[in-house]
Amino acid sequence: MSIQKMHIDGSWIEAKSQATRKIINPSNQELIATVAEGNEEDAVLAIRAARKTFDQGSWASTPANLRGKLIYKIAELIERDKSELAHLETLDTGKTLIESKGDMEDIAEVFRYFAGLADKNAGEMIESPIPNSISKVVREPIGVCALIMPWNYPLLQAAWKIAPALAAGNTIVMKPSEITPLTTIKITELIEEVGVPKGVVNLVLGAGSTVGQAMADSQLVDFISFTGGIETGKKIMCAASGNVKKIALELGGKNPNIVFADSDLDVAVDQALNAVYFHAGQVCSAGARLLVEDRIHDWFVEQLVKRVKRIKLGNGFDQDTESGPMISAEHRLKVEEYVAIGKKEGAKLIIGGERPKDPALQNGFFYLPTIFTECTSNMRIIQEEIFGPVLTVERFSSEEEVIKLANDTIYGLAGAVWSNDLAKAERVASQLRMGTVWINDYHPYFAQAPWGGYKQSGIGRELGKSGLDEYTETKHIYQNTKPEPMNWFK
Ligand code: NAD
Repeated sequence: MSIQKMHIDGSWIEAKSQATRKIINPSNQELIATVAEGNEEDAVLAIRAARKTFDQGSWASTPANLRGKLIYKIAELIERDKSELAHLETLDTGKTLIESKGDMEDIAEVFRYFAGLADKNAGEMIESPIPNSISKVVREPIGVCALIMPWNYPLLQAAWKIAPALAAGNTIVMKPSEITPLTTIKITELIEEVGVPKGVVNLVLGAGSTVGQAMADSQLVDFISFTGGIETGKKIMCAASGNVKKIALELGGKNPNIVFADSDLDVAVDQALNAVYFHAGQVCSAGARLLVEDRIHDWFVEQLVKRVKRIKLGNGFDQDTESGPMISAEHRLKVEEYVAIGKKEGAKLIIGGERPKDPALQNGFFYLPTIFTECTSNMRIIQEEIFGPVLTVERFSSEEEVIKLANDTIYGLAGAVWSNDLAKAERVASQLRMGTVWINDYHPYFAQAPWGGYKQSGIGRELGKSGLDEYTETKHIYQNTKPEPMNWFK
């Protein structure tokens, strides 16, 4: 198997150290690729290339509509190659092929959205309070952007960063998760194919502790956009202080899914499953905390259990698979530790809580969909992100109580409210300290709406107009149209 390479200053290269990493399919542990494993030295080369290219100025001064056209062409190539891209994403992450296909549609849309915005973000005139003056605010690229991505939505998370970064005229160095690099390598080829100039987009492959840390530490990087876990986010924040880099952090969540008794209950049951078990719970916005109104609690849980028993785990390429594996052996262990903690804390395990027994699943990192009831706010399984197929259920009996419970974590990424009393649903939504709140739905997100977290779920917003603003600096240019001496100093 040939080695898949990094892309630095327009060339496809192996790691300076010649190191490589084996990429495996989490559904069966088969080897799917061997990729270059870069380190600090490779990261520095890529950052220097991005710096040199930015400082030459030709990319930032390319008319924004032309940058937009190139970004639109990337969307077209994603459409052209979407089957191959979806196949790679399923191989790499284990998610079902239908999910990966959906991701590719969303990714193409993200590129189209930012292609359209590229020439609509020049800035604005402002009303100067000073006579005979012109005052305008212009938006300029920040410079060299370091983009660091997680493994759960490898290409989607990359797209949310690459498209606005290029639209705004920046140069970039990107690092996918070391365990899921394949689609990011492929999109770098597509970016090259559309003719984005060399040095604008650089790709370094390797571990977070080496390549990622070097990107966060670098004095030559102006902005770092990171999606991943909260502890890594804190390290990046510290490292970024070295040269006061701008930062955008998209971190974890512990997202409440609130069901009032007056909601359309059959829909709420169905969507509660989707909220938490989609991609085996490895979703930052997973509805892993179900808060159910007391008087429907037992019925609701009974319905969930009936459905959970039928969830079909398997290889993402099998047509009847509904949910894939955990990403790695290490991550499954983390989920197992949380299940042990939940039992110890006194939560009631009512289904799952173990690996599947099916012989066909023994080579993959599968874990059964799990439900804990009788959970309370003080438990670690309520407070901490498990990032697996584990649903915790809490009870509530009033609007005030559920708002307090829902907000009682350090996170604030997303949440949902189910009720046919829309005034009540709006009241609750307005009190939730979260970046996204869904009413009578779970999970919809799209390029046009901002995405990001309150509290420790992050800093900044991706997608939407604000997702482009993140990649710009704001400059005020003031012109005196009638200069006269001030005669202040006689
Ligand atoms: P992670 O923090 O372990 O790794 C994320 C990336 O950071 C990887 O590329 C990794 O190599 C790199 N990294 C690790 N240490 C680093 C360091 N010291 N310096 C720089 N980079 C470093 O996260 P993960 O396990 O890949 O992803 C899961 C997490 O991502 C979950 O917490 C999830 O909630 C979060 N996530 C958030 C969003 C969102 O939109 N808020 C979206 C997807 C995932």
